[in-house]
Amino acid sequence: MKTLDDLDVAGKRVFVRADLNVPLSGETITDDGRIRAVAPTIAKLAQSGAKVVVASHLGRPKGAPDPQFSLAPVARRLGELLGRDVVFAADTVGDSARAAVAALADGQVVLLENLRFNPGETSKDDAERGAFADALAALADLYVGDGFGAVHRRHASVYDLPARLPHAAGQLVTAEVGVLRRLTEDVARPYAVVLGGSKVSDKIGVIENLLDKADRILVGGGMVFTFLKAKGYEVGSSLLQEDQIPVVQEYLERAEKAGVEFVLPVDVAVSASFPDVKGGAPVEDFEVVPADAMPEGRLGLDIGPESGRLFASKLADAATVFWNGPMGVFEHPAFAEGTKAVAQGLLDSPAFTVVGGGDSAAAVRTLGFDENAFGHISTGGGASLEYLEGKTLPGLAALED
Ligand code: ADP
Ligand code: MG
Repeated sequence: MKTLDDLDVAGKRVFVRADLNVPLSGETITDDGRIRAVAPTIAKLAQSGAKVVVASHLGRPKGAPDPQFSLAPVARRLGELLGRDVVFAADTVGDSARAAVAALADGQVVLLENLRFNPGETSKDDAERGAFADALAALADLYVGDGFGAVHRRHASVYDLPARLPHAAGQLVTAEVGVLRRLTEDVARPYAVVLGGSKVSDKIGVIENLLDKADRILVGGGMVFTFLKAKGYEVGSSLLQEDQIPVVQEYLERAEKAGVEFVLPVDVAVSASFPDVKGGAPVEDFEVVPADAMPEGRLGLDIGPESGRLFASKLADAATVFWNGPMGVFEHPAFAEGTKAVAQGLLDSPAFTVVGGGDSAAAVRTLGFDENAFGHISTGGGASLEYLEGKTLPGLAALED
């Protein structure tokens, strides 16, 4: 994979596929981690005299312009972080984009509007995606792939466009891939993996692959109730994926045979209803119960304090830790304790620690931890999980020569 140093960018139009898919509340960016992560690549290209054309998706618009998914607020924040003007184009391959790119001087930066306002970006039809990639290719001379959070997508700007232009990986993608190698090749042991978040089915593939790589797998978050149910426990009205129970049972058996330790919570924080995460209203029926004695009709929304200590102890003597998925509904302070305990457990461990996942990374920052104290915070949850599953990622394959 070529890197920025292999490209001669001065005076050239360089298309940077970034992942600027940040969480927004109205027009306010609630976590700018992904913008800061790609800013060094953009700054380096601009300083080297490139005409920089930045593009990204934001959210899931339906292939047509939709103001709530506009990248305009991101253009402003990117400009602040770079300390230079960032021109914003009101479309992706239309008159506004073409005019803005044509007007760029060396060292200037333009951000195109949301790529997913065009149906060709995510189309399953090769010809439709290819046509959009052709239109994007007309805006640039070189391609830099630096949208790590999107490299697992077979999308026009990620997969088809680099085939049409001389290309290289940006600094963020280069760094992310370097970290993922440390989690898959010659891993320092004990290797502990902490999985949480909301959907078991999203993470099941990675468990399968980790069964013969990790020494310990710790499970929390919404997905844990499928594990507790698989063990025959009552889980009340917690998140549950019934269809995944047999798969989970098989994993628990395979893990036992392979000597992989599965660590499940011993206590759970429950409530009668999903908390008000926007308003942050206090939870009145909060209760911590043993994991094998959850009352009916209650929702499990976090691992309990005893589990937090148990999980931290399983990280204390690890040499490598990968963590994906919050331990609870951390967006409400009443259910953020389990996630805090795991984050602190990573910090207290001498291990090389990696945090992957959009919500996990946001949790670390919004709960007040120093992100620089972790070994690495990945900007891509799905992408890092698919890498750990052993899959070929389209956006990385496309950057190979
Ligand atoms: P990531 O983006 O880090 O990969 P996910 O998207 O898989 O993480 O999951 C994050 C979401 O999981 C958070 O919004 C959190 O509120 C939710 N979550 C965690 N624990 C629970 C739970 N017990 N019940 C419901 N949702 C949960
Ligand atoms: Mg998420």
